[in-house]
Amino acid sequence: MMETVAYYNGKISEVADMMVPLTDRGMLFGDGIYEATMAQHQTIFALAEHLVRFKQNLAAVMITPTWTDETLTNLLYDLLSRVDNESYMVYWQATRGTGPRQHHFPTNAKPNLMVMITPMSMSRERQTRAYQVRSELDVRSGLADIKTINLLPNVLAAQRAQAEGVDETIFYRLDANHQEIVTEGSKTNVHFIKAGQLITAPLDQRILPGIAREHLLTVAQRLGISVVERYFTITELKQADEVFITSSTLMAGRVQQIDHEPVGYQDEQHFKQLQTQLLAEWEAETN
Ligand code: PLP
Repeated sequence: MMETVAYYNGKISEVADMMVPLTDRGMLFGDGIYEATMAQHQTIFALAEHLVRFKQNLAAVMITPTWTDETLTNLLYDLLSRVDNESYMVYWQATRGTGPRQHHFPTNAKPNLMVMITPMSMSRERQTRAYQVRSELDVRSGLADIKTINLLPNVLAAQRAQAEGVDETIFYRLDANHQEIVTEGSKTNVHFIKAGQLITAPLDQRILPGIAREHLLTVAQRLGISVVERYFTITELKQADEVFITSSTLMAGRVQQIDHEPVGYQDEQHFKQLQTQLLAEWEAETN
């Protein structure tokens, strides 16, 4: 059994041992698409949805896969069978290929496919802790709905959170009236509960259509919690009953502070219902 698994165009090794060519366009330009989800007991959570988004995103940036959903699924499961801890993060990415450093696409580029499987748990600690976040202006372009590996604005925002001793940076843009409209977090989607309603940003080019976000909306509907997809401000978040962030590797994290001001923690019942149901889905699918 292996500790971790790395795959690159047919080669398999531990993650620390895998070498990638300098001229992989992922290295040079961040020219690629990725996906990340969790696996438990040899089952990859919400794989079908991640494969759909992966395929759509590859098409959006004109990378033509040399694999099908079926061959990729088989590959991921083959790689997962080489490790035997309880749970893992399963990460895969495709770059446009290898070629000389020129911005336009190399002729006949063949995509490079990479997979990384590393131990990670959906731990109780991560589920129950109080998250602190900070906000900053979203400087990203209109490509935020594509899950590209070109994540420099997100990396810098996450680092600024780390440097301030908080967990996440929430991005906002300024509208025509100089209102701070929340887009998403550096690696999460952002939601709030007010008067028993769940409010989340609508899907547009400014946010990633999170799979955990999608699950959250389904779960809310099932629980009879009404869902409103609309733009909202940082001020609204600060006055919300509950604020939380979601992602595939976290599910739902309850936010207790924004920009050092206490927020939320006023509608535990609705928050807990949503979080419990999200985790129940994960357990049901992967147990
Ligand atoms: N937004 C950004 C910028 C992200 O990087 C991520 C996850 O990595 C998300 C949102 C959440 O997406 P998902 O729920 O599919 O993990």
